[in-house]
Amino acid sequence: EEITIATLCSHTALQIFHGAKKEGFKTLGLAVNQNTKFYDAFPLAKPDEILRFNSYDEFITKSKELTDRNVIIIPHGSFVEYMGTKRFEQMEVPTFGSRQVLKWEESRDSQREWLESAGISMPKRIADAKDISEPVLVKYNGAKGGRGFFIAKDFMEFKMGIDLSEESYTIQEYVLGTRYYLHYFYSPIKQSGYRVGNGSLELMSMDRRDESNIDELYKLGSTEELKKHGMFPSLVVTGNIPVVIRESLLAKVFEMGESVINRSYELFGGLIGPFCLESIVTDHLDFKVFEISCRIVAGTNPFTSGSSYSDMTEPGMSTGRRIAREIKDAIAAGKLSEVVS
Ligand code: ATP
Repeated sequence: EEITIATLCSHTALQIFHGAKKEGFKTLGLAVNQNTKFYDAFPLAKPDEILRFNSYDEFITKSKELTDRNVIIIPHGSFVEYMGTKRFEQMEVPTFGSRQVLKWEESRDSQREWLESAGISMPKRIADAKDISEPVLVKYNGAKGGRGFFIAKDFMEFKMGIDLSEESYTIQEYVLGTRYYLHYFYSPIKQSGYRVGNGSLELMSMDRRDESNIDELYKLGSTEELKKHGMFPSLVVTGNIPVVIRESLLAKVFEMGESVINRSYELFGGLIGPFCLESIVTDHLDFKVFEISCRIVAGTNPFTSGSSYSDMTEPGMSTGRRIAREIKDAIAAGKLSEVVS
């Protein structure tokens, strides 16, 4: 029976629908208070139909309607964040990728356990603020998109910056370097290319985030000077810029992706589909990974018609389209259950 690809109208939805349509799927937009009028402006990406819900609970209570339509949901960052991990795990509608990964992705601690045990180098963690002796980044655990994060160079600055009304936070070495958000795709069923385990690892693209106001703050003077005027850097994501990395660093990029996948099989039965390592490359050309994202990331949006990397695998392949292709290939091979949960 014909499958419909659905996702929440936000984040990377245009790219997901665009790719699904290219692969010949029916598409369904899900909207919970999202304004979707601008989708009319993009006829090649606009979903065939938009279904409106009053709350995220309805993805649970009205799941039969979606299951009856033979829907596969493509999760993206906003979808999981708005639904909440618990409800997302409970949802009866089939979703692309593994849901086991949510538990490992949920907290900074479990991410660290996974990545470090895979041999990935991460920014050091500072347990006690009194021990701050070099620049650190203070991250509130609830905050999304870097809101409220601040940089401190010693305990004094930490005390000045910390908002005690916030819940928990972590203090992390501030890694000075250039940022690369590496977009991978792991297929457990593809039998060619860069082989990892029983499947194959692809590099789709890379981006760097535009962050307000830190990216532009220097135009007003030194950050130290500006603090006296009550102006502090913030790291709120507003957009994404395409980047490529020195070719000689690609060997390491693939090795990191490979060990993350291998470890994911040892820990929880495997990460499937798109994932992103958010990394900083130092002037010693070392990678420090500060976060993993286990589904399609918004940084793939500059690449709706392919990237410098994916074009060398198949011209015009976006991550959104790659997901649809994986579903198509899995159906053809009778292996759909290996890529949905
Ligand atoms: P999201 O979940 O949306 O990816 P987040 O709120 O978990 O974001 P991070 O991704 O951890 O936040 O960090 C936000 C930004 O802070 C990053 O995009 C990066 O620019 C910067 N950053 C994070 N960790 C470090 C670090 N250790 N050193 C230097 N900069 C960092």
